[in-house]
Amino acid sequence: MATIQIKIPDIGDFKEVEVTEVLVKPGARVRAEQSLITVESDKASMEIPSPRDGIVAALNVKVGDKVSMNSLILSMEGEDIPSSGTPAPSTPMPMPMPMPMPMPEPQAPSGAGTVNTEPRSTPGAAADMHAEVLVLGSGPGGYTAAFRAADLGKKVVIVERYPDLGGVCTNVGCIPSKALLHIARVITEAQELAPSGVQFSNPAIDLDKVRAWKTEVAGKGAKGIAGLARQRKVSIVQGTGKFDSPHGMTVSQADGKSMRIGFDACIVAAGSSVARIPGLPYDDPRVLDSTGALALADIPRRLLVIGGGIIGLEMACVYDALGSKVSVVEMQDGLMPGADRDLVRPLERRLKKRYEAILLNTRVAKLEAQPEGLLASFDGPGAPGPQRYDRVLVATGRRPNGREIGAEAAGVTIDARGYITVDRQQRTNVPHIFAIGDIVGEPMLAHKASHEAKVAAEALAGHKVYFDALTIPSVAYTDPEVAWMGLTETAAKAGNIAFEKAVFPWAASGRARAVDRTEGSTKLLFDPQTKRILGAGIVGVNAGELIAELVLALEMGADMHDIALTIHPHPTLSETAGLAAEAGLGTITDLFIPRKTVHHEPE
Ligand code: FAD
Repeated sequence: MATIQIKIPDIGDFKEVEVTEVLVKPGARVRAEQSLITVESDKASMEIPSPRDGIVAALNVKVGDKVSMNSLILSMEGEDIPSSGTPAPSTPMPMPMPMPMPMPEPQAPSGAGTVNTEPRSTPGAAADMHAEVLVLGSGPGGYTAAFRAADLGKKVVIVERYPDLGGVCTNVGCIPSKALLHIARVITEAQELAPSGVQFSNPAIDLDKVRAWKTEVAGKGAKGIAGLARQRKVSIVQGTGKFDSPHGMTVSQADGKSMRIGFDACIVAAGSSVARIPGLPYDDPRVLDSTGALALADIPRRLLVIGGGIIGLEMACVYDALGSKVSVVEMQDGLMPGADRDLVRPLERRLKKRYEAILLNTRVAKLEAQPEGLLASFDGPGAPGPQRYDRVLVATGRRPNGREIGAEAAGVTIDARGYITVDRQQRTNVPHIFAIGDIVGEPMLAHKASHEAKVAAEALAGHKVYFDALTIPSVAYTDPEVAWMGLTETAAKAGNIAFEKAVFPWAASGRARAVDRTEGSTKLLFDPQTKRILGAGIVGVNAGELIAELVLALEMGADMHDIALTIHPHPTLSETAGLAAEAGLGTITDLFIPRKTVHHEPE
């Protein structure tokens, strides 16, 4: 038995990288290719595999050590002959490289089936790293896909341009906005308790602390994702990735250098960016997008929100509670286009009372940056004269990042709006490249991205899976919340789909009265013949939580009897689903609905 020294191989342009995990112990028997340690730089984390079989004699590194090429990892006892195909262990060993193979041409989507994850070579420069599955982007789509693929046995590398993992959702979207909305809700609930005999003094808002708390909430999520990646041995490479071929990606890093990753299969989860309407003075720091609004630089005295969609209204809700005078301008004739009007009306009524103005059928014709403020001129019937604001939030939508990833080099088709086209397995026109999340289309929602992620990872691993969810629920976390799923009344009428509707007004809910929020309602749409549930909408506090029961009902093919005969706990807002179903069936006792004439056919 010879003692062989195992050293850090040539791992590309990395020096003094930290050992974050030691994966073997003295006395352990290791196999060739088994991971020995994990090293992590500010750009990437990677596992160093053993070049051969053997028994660990002594470890020369511990967690926290800094290592470079040729640093001694451990000594090993074994035959002095390297495992087949690996170089002598005392000499630097290159990272596993793809086997040379001819490059396949992009083909039409093949539908079901395993992606051939045999290693392939990439034309042009040699790869610095190789991934069985490369995931571009670490948002809810990317990290879910990466983790599922790793759990299915794949060697996965995530490429992410930002140091924090988690994408828009974790860092500048769902989570920080909900943290601020939580604060907003506590402030307004405290204010609104006054009629019940409890009066709080006005809140003292320490904006620096609020900001730090929100950042900490988001940061915990990002760190949690990094921890989950480590546990699954998913490597992270920080930098901006662009395809350079159907099996290769060049990653440009912050220090101006770049590295190249070869891959067998890829899942694109590069998300979306803020869409800008032309002609506004974006250089002025008082003009915000959603990320700027979440940064909470100050509490503007007067805030104009351009766009009455979900993101704009959520941020309006935050700034209103913090003390800004908020105006919302929307080009369409109602807030939150896409949701049924009866669901939006209670929200609109409440906002009209709280906000300075809600301008519908109105557009901002001009926005001038002046030293004293931003002067907005409006266009539309009943539009007010020019108004000066301290800040303006532009919340007019998001656009997919499809054009920014070098898709053409991989042969991946992008449509006219910048979305990647995929089939029901999330497969692009190039069979070994999948795409998920905001980059493949509406609705741009985190739960759609993560669901698609699992489909893509499993399809890639050869499972016969498809995106076949019956609905993707939508929630506006405004106050009150608005949530809907399945068929909407608007779509049913437009599509001439037969339906019946049952509504339970929350004024008749004991719980809604107890929390003094009776403006809500729960609506069910169902098939007139079979009574199967077709869709549902809820407006009211916690609507976003309540809608989940009805999503499950739809997925399980439940009918109105199933929902009505499910015993809901009393007194809860969840009861309103059961009561709406009873209203639809005519069995409700909590409301008086005059009996319809019942016709009996003669025997
Ligand atoms: P993203 O989360 O956008 O992640 C894409 C990642 O890819 C990013 O980290 C990006 O840096 C990285 N990336 C892009 N290009 C490259 C490249 N070339 N190289 C390397 N990395 C790259 N959705 C909900 O469901 N519920 C909500 O409550 C909600 N609230 C929101 C609030 C706000 C203010 C915003 C803006 C969005 C909100 N969303 C919400 C939408 C949600 O954030 C997105 O639908 C979701 O993040 C999409 O996930 P994704 O994985 O497709 O992409």
